[in-house]
Amino acid sequence: MKNTVLIFVEQRDGKIQTVSFELISESRRLLKDTNFPVKALFVTDKATDAQINDLVLAGAEEVIVLEDPALGQYDTHNYSRAITNFFEKEGRPEIFLVGSTLLGRDLAPRVSARIRTGLTADATILEFKEEGGRPILYATRPALGGNIFATILCTDHIPQMASIRPGIFEISSFKDNKKNVRIVKPELDGGSKVKILKREKLNVPKQNLDKAKLIFAGGRGVSTQLAQLQELAEIAGGEVAVSRAVVDAQLAPKSQQVGQTGVTVRPVVYVASGISGAIQHIAGMENSELIIAVNTDPKALIFDIADFSIIADANKVLPLLVDKLKVLRHFKR
Ligand SMILES: Cc1cc2nc3c(=O)[nH]c(=O)nc-3n(C[C@H](O)[C@H](O)[C@H](O)COP(=O)(O)OP(=O)(O)OC[C@H]3O[C@@H](n4cnc5c(N)ncnc54)[C@H](O)[C@@H]3O)c2cc1C
Repeated sequence: MKNTVLIFVEQRDGKIQTVSFELISESRRLLKDTNFPVKALFVTDKATDAQINDLVLAGAEEVIVLEDPALGQYDTHNYSRAITNFFEKEGRPEIFLVGSTLLGRDLAPRVSARIRTGLTADATILEFKEEGGRPILYATRPALGGNIFATILCTDHIPQMASIRPGIFEISSFKDNKKNVRIVKPELDGGSKVKILKREKLNVPKQNLDKAKLIFAGGRGVSTQLAQLQELAEIAGGEVAVSRAVVDAQLAPKSQQVGQTGVTVRPVVYVASGISGAIQHIAGMENSELIIAVNTDPKALIFDIADFSIIADANKVLPLLVDKLKVLRHFKR
């Protein structure tokens, strides 16, 4: 696997997670003028043709499937053994990227510790440079409470590893990509010692923030007006997000939090009401195409990145917006 950039493909209940496609496409785009291949490592109990076709379309030049009935559901032991044993047998890739999901945050450190290499966790920017005939990973992540960005290299050990936040890169379609698949029976070293007795899904309302085109976000300044945001989202067909201040006040679930320690979003329109624009919040929404900010403080940092700034009391602006949208909806029927 010399000079290979390998992407871990995460599946949950048989569904490949979007971040895997994002990482494959971004790596392929970044490496388009080099000979360094981008390959996908799909760990699963059964890979379907449709799944493999999607990985090829996203840009994988080879799909390596580690297939075993024990790999249907995530298990730290089985997954980390399957991957590290595969590396030891076939040779290590130069770079190994994992999505920074709940699963990825558990798996990546276990893999890196087992094979004694470094890991840059929770990166938000990727860059590859060719140095000495090999690809070098420059992984950038927010550090020191989000006040600086640190670019981290790990050149002495391979694979150079990073976990990367979901929702940052676009998925491309590489229509001319050739299908190249290899199924491998992984070694699990006797299998996991953990026995799963039961799996139960929490009844948490589903958030689609990472895919939303329109987001009405509220911060501490509108924490008593969240119902108004919900109404707006329902009328206009959007989603509601919040800042950490609102989550900390237990007025919204963590799954609704945008920012460095929440979800990264890139909607067409992001309406931020009563949000000051702390760097940790901005880290999760600055790639929105159009940002509209409502804040009573003309010096609020959010205005530095807003395309439209409304210096006003959101508690007065939001009801006006609801009324306007209701009228529009009435005439559009
Ligand atoms: C390690 C770390 C990670 C973090 N991760 C995140 C994260 O992922 N996401 C996140 O959001 N934060 C995060 N934070 C917290 C972040 O630093 C801020 O504290 C938080 O974003 C502030 O939320 P806020 O803007 O809602 O509240 P405030 O900063 O209190 O801002 C409230 C704003 O509302 C305005 N306002 C008040 N009343 C009105 C009104 N009636 N109409 C209009 N405007 C009004 C005020 O002028 C003010 O600008 C993190 C912090 C740390 C240290």
